Amino acid sequence: MTTLTTDSPLATSYVQATNYYEGRNRPIRVAVFHTMEYPERPTGAEWCLNYFAGKLGKAPMASVHYTCDADSIGQGVREKDTAFTTPGANADGISVEHAGYAAQRDDATGWQDDYSTRLLDNSARLFADICTRNRIPLVHLSDAQLAAGARGIIGHDQATRVYRKSTHTDPGTHFPWSRFMAAVVKAAGRPAPAPSGQVLSLGSVGENVRHLQQGLNRVFPTYSRLSTDGSYGPRTVAVIREFQTRAKAAGRYTSGVDGITGPATRKALASYGVTF
Ligand SMILES: [Zn+2]
Repeated sequence: MTTLTTDSPLATSYVQATNYYEGRNRPIRVAVFHTMEYPERPTGAEWCLNYFAGKLGKAPMASVHYTCDADSIGQGVREKDTAFTTPGANADGISVEHAGYAAQRDDATGWQDDYSTRLLDNSARLFADICTRNRIPLVHLSDAQLAAGARGIIGHDQATRVYRKSTHTDPGTHFPWSRFMAAVVKAAGRPAPAPSGQVLSLGSVGENVRHLQQGLNRVFPTYSRLSTDGSYGPRTVAVIREFQTRAKAAGRYTSGVDGITGPATRKALASYGVTF
């Protein structure tokens, strides 16, 4: 028996799906959470792989990169290839199907039951790995951000609302996004997103970093052309240093030129109309 290597070290089996495109028309931008609408069983990941590979009957015109249940992860389409999972976001998405139903509520018989708890832990590790390898920020995008082309994590329902090419509403209105995202960030071993008001510096990630980057690009286009990825990297540090130097010369900032966005820098930025 041939064992195919998986892209994610967390996937323990590879069963090639029948229907997919080789390659991609756009660079990878989003990781997409789906529910299979299949019972919470230990064999969910394996069932889904076999289903898309046509081993349980005629292969559907659908496929997915990864399948996940409470105790295993499988792969059915290469990350470099295009799976048919999320109409509108297939060309730039990596999709993951999960055992369970979108109708679940966030309660003790739904997303908080034992199976779901283990499933979400397992999935959080996979999303952390996928996003880290593909440089996808560990942020849950809003529909508006998805529509604007931002990079991050979404549910299938969001692609349905934004691109209107599907009717699917998984993983459902009760999906515990904030708990899941906290688990993804924790699994990635990265600093947690800074809440608004906190000092932002090298290594900070999150929505407020993205808003800061967007504001800098808008107000200071001569020296700020940052990718608005929500990750406070060396280029963001350099732009903040430039801002601090110029604001100091203009008498609107009196603290250090350190590339750190603390209270004084935040106040100076606000005086130029950059808030986040
Ligand atoms: Zn879906």
